[in-house]
Amino acid sequence: MRNPFLISLLDLPRQEGASMPWDAQLPAPRDFGVELIGVPEGDPLDIHLTLQSVSEGVWLSGTVHATAHGECARCLQDLEEDITETIGELVLYPERRKALEDQGDDEAHELPVIQNEHIDIEPIVRDAVVAHLPFRPLCRPDCPGLCPECGERWEDLPEDHHHDHTNPSFDALADLEAALRAAGDDK
Ligand SMILES: [Zn+2]
Ligand SMILES: [Zn+2]
Repeated sequence: MRNPFLISLLDLPRQEGASMPWDAQLPAPRDFGVELIGVPEGDPLDIHLTLQSVSEGVWLSGTVHATAHGECARCLQDLEEDITETIGELVLYPERRKALEDQGDDEAHELPVIQNEHIDIEPIVRDAVVAHLPFRPLCRPDCPGLCPECGERWEDLPEDHHHDHTNPSFDALADLEAALRAAGDDK
């Protein structure tokens, strides 16, 4: 099946300064997120790009917009976040990347490259979105989280919520004290 993230450069003259717009709404690929938040597979990614020919290759710039779904790291409530990320990426002509490699640039092989007059923007869009997702998403910045005793959301609990209990470590001490006293009485 054709990769929808593949942009053909056939309509972009290879002449510095030439540019063309490229807009699409594409389904999010699998695993488009981090542990607690991401764009569900198949949900729309709105992509608006301008492709511009530069001497080294094609300069991609624009935005990607999507809605991420996740879970609050404190209270575990479902949350949604509208995300708009900017894209700015130089995609090299293969001979340019080859030239960098020949010059001893060890990282050149990781740079995005034009292949068969096409650019695969999937890794570029993925980097733009996934790299900016929070590792600890919160439903709101001051989310109070959960009561450590009962696991209920503080949000849902009355203001005077508390748990009546004796501290078990004090109980143990009291037991020990009683045992010692009993032992002493035996003498
Ligand atoms: Zn929360
Ligand atoms: Zn509680």
